[in-house]
Amino acid sequence: MATVSFCDLRKSFGAIEAVKGLDLEVADREFVVLVGPSGCGKSTTLRMLAGLEGISGGEIRIGDTVVNALPPRARDIAMVFQDYALYPHKTVYDNMAFSLRVRGIAKPEIESRIREAATMLDIDKLLERKPAQLSGGQRQRVAMGRAIVRRPKVFLFDEPLSNLDAKLRGQVRAEIKKLHQMIGTTIIYVTHDQVEAMTLADRIVILRGGVIEQVGTPDEVYDTPASLFVGGFVGSPAMNFVRAKRDGEELVLDGGERMAVCDLGPRAERVGQEIVLGIRPEHFVSSGDAPARLTGTVNLVEPLGADTLVHLDVEGATVTARVTPHFRPAVGERLPLGFDPARIHLFDPDSEKAVA
Ligand code: ATP
Repeated sequence: MATVSFCDLRKSFGAIEAVKGLDLEVADREFVVLVGPSGCGKSTTLRMLAGLEGISGGEIRIGDTVVNALPPRARDIAMVFQDYALYPHKTVYDNMAFSLRVRGIAKPEIESRIREAATMLDIDKLLERKPAQLSGGQRQRVAMGRAIVRRPKVFLFDEPLSNLDAKLRGQVRAEIKKLHQMIGTTIIYVTHDQVEAMTLADRIVILRGGVIEQVGTPDEVYDTPASLFVGGFVGSPAMNFVRAKRDGEELVLDGGERMAVCDLGPRAERVGQEIVLGIRPEHFVSSGDAPARLTGTVNLVEPLGADTLVHLDVEGATVTARVTPHFRPAVGERLPLGFDPARIHLFDPDSEKAVA
């Protein structure tokens, strides 16, 4: 069983605490994505699991084995790096064969594993080429092929798409997802890109400053973000945050609009003097028949084809709404946006935690 578990995992670099007591269980065959802004400790966590970085405290298990003190090669994992780390003077075939030869695997077995992986990744016509004769996407597939032929218990990916252009990134992302469906190996994948995390993961782990902010399926972290940070990190364009002050049984929003506190449903009981409303751009509706409204001044209109993004200034803060493609308000226009209070998110302004 290729389960992976981290128990109170810690890493310090001198005075810098990069990972501060991480607890996480990854199930066999699960695709888990570690996501978060630069410096949150994602790569360090992955490198500790791979054995490329020592740990400062806690425990890492792969299956039933504590691997804290095991060297990388004894951990039965394969890592695909962002720079692919291919040997430039070896052919694709030899790059893929290298680690199998080192382990003394018989030639016919090596041959069959490489043919199988190359067919799966559509690089079977490239086996005699050197890395310099390949495109970025092809190199990325060779790096994955080299990992697959080892048949490891766990695959680790560290920002594998960051050197690819936007179109290729989408293609290779789909290939990685298909690959997981085909081979079903446990995957732990690091990225700073929330779209990548949402599209690939069975479960997303959102890290911030060396601690876990939230763990959940893509739907869970999108629908019920546990904190303001997660609300703002997951979803594109990002969630809007609008401050509001309580005035008796009403809330006065930035921008001056009022709404009834009771429209927030059972959460109304937990609303204090100040609250932050989290409204996703895609959850604004036409203001006419909406139970609540927010008004701002249009400062930018971005037609995207399938829909339009309208950016408004609301008391110095920008609020973005995703609206129907042919709705094109004029810059400078005062525009009311409707929303359903039952669908919005509420955050405590001090703790920044969700008010559930
Ligand atoms: P990025 O997306 O930028 O790669 P990350 O989330 O992967 O970021 P890490 O590389 O894990 O972040 O780094 C976590 C913290 O540890 C950062 O503050 C970083 O500066 C620090 N750090 C990482 N490696 C070292 C090192 N070898 N020596 C000192 N500090 C380090």
